[in-house]
Amino acid sequence: IKYKLAEQVIRCFANESALYRTSAYVDEKIHSEMEKGKKKEEAYLEAIGEYALEAAVLKVLGSEVLDYVTDEAVQIHGGMGFSAEMPVDRCYRDSRINRIFEGTNEINRLVVADQYLKMAKKSDSPIFAMAKELYNSIDSIKPASANDYFDYKVELIENFKKAVLLTQYCAYETLGKQYSGEQEIQMNISDMIIQTYATESLMLRVKKLTGIKAESEIGVYKDILDAYIQEAALKIYSSAIEAICSFASESEYSKLQKALQNLTTFKPINSKDAHRRIAEKLIEDNIYKF
Ligand SMILES: Cc1cc2nc3c(=O)[nH]c(=O)nc-3n(C[C@H](O)[C@H](O)[C@H](O)COP(=O)(O)OP(=O)(O)OC[C@H]3O[C@@H](n4cnc5c(N)ncnc54)[C@H](O)[C@@H]3O)c2cc1C
Repeated sequence: IKYKLAEQVIRCFANESALYRTSAYVDEKIHSEMEKGKKKEEAYLEAIGEYALEAAVLKVLGSEVLDYVTDEAVQIHGGMGFSAEMPVDRCYRDSRINRIFEGTNEINRLVVADQYLKMAKKSDSPIFAMAKELYNSIDSIKPASANDYFDYKVELIENFKKAVLLTQYCAYETLGKQYSGEQEIQMNISDMIIQTYATESLMLRVKKLTGIKAESEIGVYKDILDAYIQEAALKIYSSAIEAICSFASESEYSKLQKALQNLTTFKPINSKDAHRRIAEKLIEDNIYKF
């Protein structure tokens, strides 16, 4: 049960981090457009357009975290969770629609992949050049190794981004015009982007908190980050492998698989102990106060 409680906290905290980060970007964009003389309505539209990819990421991430958290809430209550006598049954029924309306999650995943491709295709975008360079030096790709706590997290997240670059570039180069019809591969790439964005947002928030919270309080936030980044690495690797299986030849697969493994290799932390410490804070506070 402690594991489940902690996992609920971890996913909520990561989701909040991505939401706060994106909201700040949108606010900043609105202000800067208005300062340039744009009307409020135009500034809003400009900001929404600029962060369309992030908005789709948040829609998918938020609705799936909600479903996970409510599903586990029912499970934690056991048979009583299924009964209308408990409030969790209502949460369960109400949460499910969020993956369907406001653009189904399938469509939003395709939006994420499509927006990413559009960004990459822009004439002033460095994305394809960076991906090509990465591919050309594929044998020299190494796992993250920095010693400092946050330097290491930054390096690992940069590696997640490289995994996205490499997978998307190789899929696009191999499939050409066929790429737009390969929704399954686009969804894999989209999942990699969602995990990377959430992890980076979480890392930035925890880093910011280290300058605000007392030393004695920061440990549990690092536990959240440690546990999430480890899970994200595994998910990113799994999505990447599923994608490359669908387009790469045997020799290409083996080359890409090694690189993707290195890009998602992490220094292991004791995830079980981290989950226990997070759950203990939740139980002691008797409320979500992170
Ligand atoms: C309670 C509730 C409230 C709602 N409120 C509103 C509202 O206020 N305003 C409004 O406009 N609408 C509203 N809707 C409608 C809602 O937005 C749609 O149900 C939703 O967009 C899905 O469309 P659909 O039901 O036609 O399913 P379909 O489009 O038929 O989709 C069925 C399944 O196929 C998948 N799918 C469809 N097309 C593709 C594709 N090209 N590639 C991959 N997968 C695909 C979908 O993701 C989904 O899993 C509401 C729906 C409900 C249930």
